[in-house]
Amino acid sequence: GPVLANGKMGGRALIVGSTGFIGRFIAEACLDSGRPTYLLVRSGSSAFTSKAQTIHSLQNKGATIIIGTITDKKLMEKILEEYKIEVVISAVGGESILDQLQLITAIKAVGTVKRFLPSEFGHDIERAYPVEPGLQMYNEKRQVRRAIEEAGISYTYICCNSIAAWPYHDNTHPADVLPPLDRFHIYGDGNVKAYFVAGTDIGRLTMKVINDNRTINKAVHFRPPNNLLSINELASLWEKKINRNLPRVTITEDDLLNAANEMRIPESIVAAFTHDIFIQGCQINFALDKATDLEATSLYPDTPFRSIDECFDDFVSAVIDEHVMVAEKPASGSSEGIKLPVSEAYA
Ligand code: NDP
Repeated sequence: GPVLANGKMGGRALIVGSTGFIGRFIAEACLDSGRPTYLLVRSGSSAFTSKAQTIHSLQNKGATIIIGTITDKKLMEKILEEYKIEVVISAVGGESILDQLQLITAIKAVGTVKRFLPSEFGHDIERAYPVEPGLQMYNEKRQVRRAIEEAGISYTYICCNSIAAWPYHDNTHPADVLPPLDRFHIYGDGNVKAYFVAGTDIGRLTMKVINDNRTINKAVHFRPPNNLLSINELASLWEKKINRNLPRVTITEDDLLNAANEMRIPESIVAAFTHDIFIQGCQINFALDKATDLEATSLYPDTPFRSIDECFDDFVSAVIDEHVMVAEKPASGSSEGIKLPVSEAYA
């Protein structure tokens, strides 16, 4: 792509799903990278105050808003052509995975998009086998991969593993919720490890990936060695941060399978993924031994990932903000001296 005034590189990028949980991190990183950034926004989106605020703040950072849905193939062709889009990144949510089939048809018809990143941003869906209803989403993501490959579109699959947060088994967007202050739910024996990656790093690394010819038609796995933790280790780290020990309640494998079996959407999907991660070890039970596998810390050794320790410091700050009346904010970023509210809820 062209060299921009700030010395950064990049052609025009279209992002789908920027009002969503993962998409917002991608949109912000894209704007930070200096690429001309276009956001496809569904017309209903601005009806929700929080989404309208997100759109507004991205617009203030320089994004161009285009109203539309990816299921409108004609419109998508027109957008891709008129705005000379070179990169398309989709972060549509679980219920919209198959909407991407029309987008793929439009990208193929136009023929000028140099890279497409479909909505992945999780596990390697070809090598993970969650129970239902998680499996259905993976089957849809697999169907999208096959459509891209058959259309001959250049792609990259981002397998970034878990977002850095407390992994609640019933919440789709764990990073929006603070870690617990009353008790920990520990899955199984609590010793199976997973990779926890900050949302800002998911965005930042995705931008590096689209600038990189080595990643064409590859899956990029995020496996920062320092961010590999079990839920027992995560619990101990949080206890250290809040300077208090919390009771640990075991959620057994059967508990998770029962929650999945209830077929409540989206909670049961999250329960199925939690089972896959913390019981079956789906993030760590395979080696990156395919010709199409790449790993982010090997590709970008000079780009450090935020540590889970730093991410938990942010949550401590958020806890303090929520409980200003008892906060004694520590001077040097350590959690020494934090007093949590003494109430029945936290006793
Ligand atoms: P969200 O549900 O939060 O957001 C989805 C976004 O896609 C919204 O902006 C929505 O727009 C937009 N969208 C949906 N359908 C269309 C369409 N037809 N046309 C245009 N825009 C559309 O999604 P998530 O962030 O939860 O999920 C994104 C991806 O990230 C998924 O693949 C998911 O599996 C993965 N993920 C990974 C996590 C991890 O820990 N690694 C955690 C959570 C998700 P609108 O505002 O109009 O609804």
